[in-house]
Amino acid sequence: MNNFYNFLNLLKIESIKQQQKINLIASENYSSLASIIYSSSSFINKYTEGYPFNRYYSGCKIFDYFENKSIIESQLLFSSLFSNVQPHSGVQANFSVFQTLLKKNDKILSLDLKSGGHLSHGFKKNFSGEIFEIVNYCLDKNNFLNYNYIELLLKKEKPKLIIIGYSCYQSNIDWNYLKYITKKQNCLLLSDISHISGFICSGLICNPIKNSDIVTSTTHKTLRGAKGGIILSNNNNYFKKINSSVFPGQQGGCISNLIISKYISFKEANNFNFINYSKQILINSKIMLKVFLYRGYKSLNLDTINHMFVIHLKNKFSLKIEKQLEKNGILINKNFFPNDNKNSINPSAIRIGLSAITTRKLKNFEVELLSNIICNIIENNDINYKDKINFICNKFPIYK
Ligand SMILES: *Cc1c(COP(=O)(O)O)cnc(C)c1O
Repeated sequence: MNNFYNFLNLLKIESIKQQQKINLIASENYSSLASIIYSSSSFINKYTEGYPFNRYYSGCKIFDYFENKSIIESQLLFSSLFSNVQPHSGVQANFSVFQTLLKKNDKILSLDLKSGGHLSHGFKKNFSGEIFEIVNYCLDKNNFLNYNYIELLLKKEKPKLIIIGYSCYQSNIDWNYLKYITKKQNCLLLSDISHISGFICSGLICNPIKNSDIVTSTTHKTLRGAKGGIILSNNNNYFKKINSSVFPGQQGGCISNLIISKYISFKEANNFNFINYSKQILINSKIMLKVFLYRGYKSLNLDTINHMFVIHLKNKFSLKIEKQLEKNGILINKNFFPNDNKNSINPSAIRIGLSAITTRKLKNFEVELLSNIICNIIENNDINYKDKINFICNKFPIYK
């Protein structure tokens, strides 16, 4: 019993901590109470290896119903003909795609980690970097994709696969043109929409499903669902192969409770309210970036088309700024600034994302206030905004 009380106590401390912080970590969000309840259901006990109506253990009937619902709901959400909702995470989804499309030592063309790529896109300490030959493209000097340069690399390196979709990129991606240049070179295209999937299903960013061989995403970032991954495709040559790459290729049993929770999140995202939510994220994100630019900070670009942006800290470093902000109740993450390799342990930029605080219903006025508070903290060590941040947090509860 003692242990149980201790557990409840720690849970309470974690919940209060979440409530009393302004969370600007671009990968995080608050999923709904419904999705929390479904994720902590008794399905946590059920082993569900296999696919609906074709399982390795008996007693999966109700789960079959939910997994089917989840598949159909995600297909509706992303206008895709195929969906696999089983990947435990975004990285697992990417690995299943690699297994579907590639053989050992095949060549992948991807954006490097420091410019906004992801670990699973071939970082040398990640398994993807160990088993494939990786060639990186980078951004141009204004931090945009350079399509001519990508086309040149496609011709020169003849990669089997190119990965499009990033952990920090503020600008539009021309998937039509990418499809055109990749098809010409016989290169496969994986779109990893982990960060922007909420905007895509809201229709605010164009959907790459028709222009990609395969699309992967997380379900917990702008999509605001349970933690996990999904794989989507419109090319029926891959459907069977993707399924067998996820199971038994990369994973054993599903995390049954989370798949049911994903279903709830897809349903929530398939709703007009979610489009309004995405629109407000975009408004908030543009407002905050504008304040930073007005106060003399440099970002990747002069605008953002999604929930996030990267800010160069001028002559300061992110380790200290991260701590200073946290002391005042604000969470951000350290980030590289492309083409700026000054210090790799203590990079010179931060990444800011607005999807979590928009879930708490912070709007224009509070976001502008908050933006100036953050700039003041960055510029002055001794300033103390703890009470003000507490006040804002109390006014905007995560769960009502
Ligand atoms: C977050 C992210 C992932 C990985 O997601 P996990 O669920 O942490 O495995 C993959 N690709 C991109 C581009 C991401 O931003």
